[in-house]
Amino acid sequence: MTNKVQVVVIGGGATGTGILRDLALRGIDCLLVEQNDLATGTSGRFHGLLHSGARYVVKDLHSAVECIQENKIIKEIAPDCVEDTGGMFIATKNDDLSYVDKWLEGCQRAGINTQEVSPREILREEPALTPDIVKAYLVPDAAVDGFTLAAANALAAVKLGAQVKTYTKVIGFKKEKNKICGVYLKDKYTGQEDLVSCDYVINASGAWAGQIAALAGQVINITPDKGVLVIFNHRITNRVLNHLRPPGDGDIFVPHGSVTVFGTTSKMTDNPEDNEASREEVLALLDEGTHLIPELKDIRLIRAFAGVRPLYQPDGGEVGREATRDFSIIDHQALTGLEGMISVVGGKLTTYRLMAKAAVDKVAPFLGNDKPCITHKERIYAPVPKNTGKDAHYLCQCERVTKKMLDQAVQNKERFSLSDVRRLTRLGMGPCQGTFCTFRAGAYYHETRGLSPEAANKLLKDHIEERWKGSKAILWGQQAQEAQLTRGIYLGLLNLERLDSDSHEI
Ligand SMILES: Cc1cc2nc3c(=O)[nH]c(=O)nc-3n(C[C@H](O)[C@H](O)[C@H](O)COP(=O)(O)OP(=O)(O)OC[C@H]3O[C@@H](n4cnc5c(N)ncnc54)[C@H](O)[C@@H]3O)c2cc1C
Repeated sequence: MTNKVQVVVIGGGATGTGILRDLALRGIDCLLVEQNDLATGTSGRFHGLLHSGARYVVKDLHSAVECIQENKIIKEIAPDCVEDTGGMFIATKNDDLSYVDKWLEGCQRAGINTQEVSPREILREEPALTPDIVKAYLVPDAAVDGFTLAAANALAAVKLGAQVKTYTKVIGFKKEKNKICGVYLKDKYTGQEDLVSCDYVINASGAWAGQIAALAGQVINITPDKGVLVIFNHRITNRVLNHLRPPGDGDIFVPHGSVTVFGTTSKMTDNPEDNEASREEVLALLDEGTHLIPELKDIRLIRAFAGVRPLYQPDGGEVGREATRDFSIIDHQALTGLEGMISVVGGKLTTYRLMAKAAVDKVAPFLGNDKPCITHKERIYAPVPKNTGKDAHYLCQCERVTKKMLDQAVQNKERFSLSDVRRLTRLGMGPCQGTFCTFRAGAYYHETRGLSPEAANKLLKDHIEERWKGSKAILWGQQAQEAQLTRGIYLGLLNLERLDSDSHEI
């Protein structure tokens, strides 16, 4: 790593990686630092809906317009990260039908295409839906993979000369007079500390933005807002399913790969790392979901988790669902006189590219750069392309992950965990949640990367522990049986608790 760059970007979510790519495309020398792996913050703990904007048309027209514009661009530039499932909005006989007219008018004003379909027709195509449908509309929603999106943005930037440092935490800033001129970093694996000098810092740390700003002596009014999500073991519908009513808890289902993500809730928290779901929160979500999918409680749940929205209210205004989903660029120089730093806050994953553009438009003139943004014109590519079905050497059958994909996921990496591999390939994300693929992947890397038995054991242990975190809140019915099977394999057969793995780094 060079220790002087023009711009340091803090945060490896969709926003930070989007900014890195935009900077690199304009020829600006830049480095991204992320305290964990890419997309381990909210960009990996969200619904995965590439919004058409239809959800926001009644309350937040401006956000809705941004969403539909970006929805079209992301589908064009990032087809590896998007499954263009289409979306549907469903109103049932128990819903307030006066909302439907307001919603249709909003969609028209925002420029979002809607197509009405009869209840009969939609039930034929999506038989899991409630028979109580009164109105059904198709919209251009899609499913988006936040892990692949962040990785594809970062890869595109690195190809242009940008640098990415993961597992590297920002621990402070160097200031001269009232200008930021460097960032203090700490490597999470080795504990080594470093200083990188820079002309500018872009704080894109989402729900952590207030903490980062505080390191520079700044105050940002972020209201972290927790949302709980659950995953079912198959695709319940083929399209994204939205409840056609004012946005509330438990009204969106998104099909991803072989599973369905359902949520969410909205509750203020004071901790951006508050990412575990409780049994009570899951049960409340399921109650809501049965309004659209009557058999929901009979479908096997495989995971529950939470993400934290980085909501921003400049004047401490509305919170939770009422808060705007707009984004803001905070110019610290204009606010407090601190030069060399901006913060990008609020927004949604769907609008990450627009947020990145606004941030780089703000910073580039300070660096004497007048090149325009071209991120909407250039395609980005997943570092690990999906299996097209020709290669049948699967290590993870649920998500069809092959040996070749495992090789690609760790290319040029000196250290990695199976969770890092999972984010790039979907290994262990399907119905078995890693029960069968974790030991296969551990053994595969042991053979092909020459890992010591201790290092391979550590891969295994860390991954099983990580997968277990998501099961704790949903241990009943078939999932409790599955957990017993996992326990039998890893504790009974492989004696995981006693494997020697602790003192060895990979
Ligand atoms: C439950 C839920 C559901 C959602 N669903 C959707 C949806 O379906 N569609 C949609 O468009 N949006 C959705 N959103 C919103 C969307 O997920 C977020 O707006 C978006 O992911 C934020 O991205 P980001 O890059 O700004 O933040 P993040 O992805 O959180 O990235 C910030 C990064 O900064 C890093 N960081 C923090 N501190 C440091 C430090 N000291 N040093 C280095 N790195 C640091 C963090 O580790 C983190 O990775 C949802 C949000 C939630 C909570």
